[in-house]
Amino acid sequence: MTTEEKLKILTDGAKYDAACTSSGVERSACAGGIGSANSGGICHAFSADGRCISLLKILMSNACCYDCAYCVNRVSNDVPRATFTPEEIATLTINLYRRYYIEGLFLSSGVLGSADNTAQLMIKALEILRVKYRFCGYIHAKAIPGTSPQLLQRLGELADRMSSNIELPSSRSLKLLAPDKERRDVLAPMGFIRDKKAEGNKNFVRAGQSTQMIIGATPESDLNIITLAQGLYRTYGLKRVFFSAYIPVAENSLLPALDSKPPLLREHRLYQADWLMRFYDFKAEELLDESRPYFNEFLDPKCNWAVNHPEVFPVDVNRASYKTLLRVPGVGVVSARRIMVARRQRRLDAAALARLGVVMKRAKYFIDGAAGIKLRAADDPAAVTRELIRGENARQLSLFDDMPAGVRAIEGKGGENK
Ligand code: SF4
Repeated sequence: MTTEEKLKILTDGAKYDAACTSSGVERSACAGGIGSANSGGICHAFSADGRCISLLKILMSNACCYDCAYCVNRVSNDVPRATFTPEEIATLTINLYRRYYIEGLFLSSGVLGSADNTAQLMIKALEILRVKYRFCGYIHAKAIPGTSPQLLQRLGELADRMSSNIELPSSRSLKLLAPDKERRDVLAPMGFIRDKKAEGNKNFVRAGQSTQMIIGATPESDLNIITLAQGLYRTYGLKRVFFSAYIPVAENSLLPALDSKPPLLREHRLYQADWLMRFYDFKAEELLDESRPYFNEFLDPKCNWAVNHPEVFPVDVNRASYKTLLRVPGVGVVSARRIMVARRQRRLDAAALARLGVVMKRAKYFIDGAAGIKLRAADDPAAVTRELIRGENARQLSLFDDMPAGVRAIEGKGGENK
């Protein structure tokens, strides 16, 4: 099989992994070396189905010996198989880099016989790249569940970022759909990387670790998912939890039908909630609870929280704490900081807030002193909910439906919903 034929099979097999956005790592080219990583991260591209793919995003092999029901590369699936040699991976990467096609490598793999065997091959590929070709650019490597600590150590010395995919939001679902995987084997690399980084070696997985969860393949609620994500951030210090709307690839009574659509709007809401937890100091249990375990399809999670907590509003933007400002729909991290500075000089009115970047069409229901506003979330949350849905969010939904695949993917990765 030619390299091109392998490339076709193994880039296609990698496209379902969403955990590949940029890392924030900064490194100049080493002396005599080639490549650098900068905080802008690696280049991204978007495949035809809207998935984010980093160039070069590739599998070492799709000849996986595991049988995860949700995966196109499962052993029981009848698809063409291919495996790169370590030298092929390294040569391909460096050649594409030299031609300016890529700025980094995202290397994952199916399980080739065993986790350790797969990790050894990946290590070999990265050693050739780093040592023989003196490649100093960005590398993201997948930690295969069950890999032994010595191999994780070496992989972490060679890669900038690593990820161990949690895949399904509960142990029960993992047991049902990925019978060869144990939750503890998925979590073990996360714990190892956390502990090694805590020892202070700056060159070990310098861009941190991430994970991916498949959304909509199994019955877990949004509450289950964001609670798990919150736990992973807290316990393992992850940089990112990626959510990947399940794309049906298998006929299986435990999975959504083959003709069902990937739940992209749900994925989008989860990214918005993730953003709120990481940058707005929201807790999972504030956003959802057992009585409301799913996000509102028509309202972003922050607006949804606000209309469900009328007791917090209206907020006096001239006196409120930074933390309270962040809770106001329409106020983002940047505009909240600007408010904190600007109000030292003078009292802020609606016009001043708009100039500071506050989205007044949302904020007006939740703040004191927005001129001409009769409707307040504190007085009539149901009416404000209707207005919010009728206004911006109704438009967003229709936009979302018509959105080109690439734009949809960008929306999904970010998630700020000030
Ligand atoms: S281990 Fe499971 S998810 Fe990973 S490639 Fe193999 S079948 Fe797919």
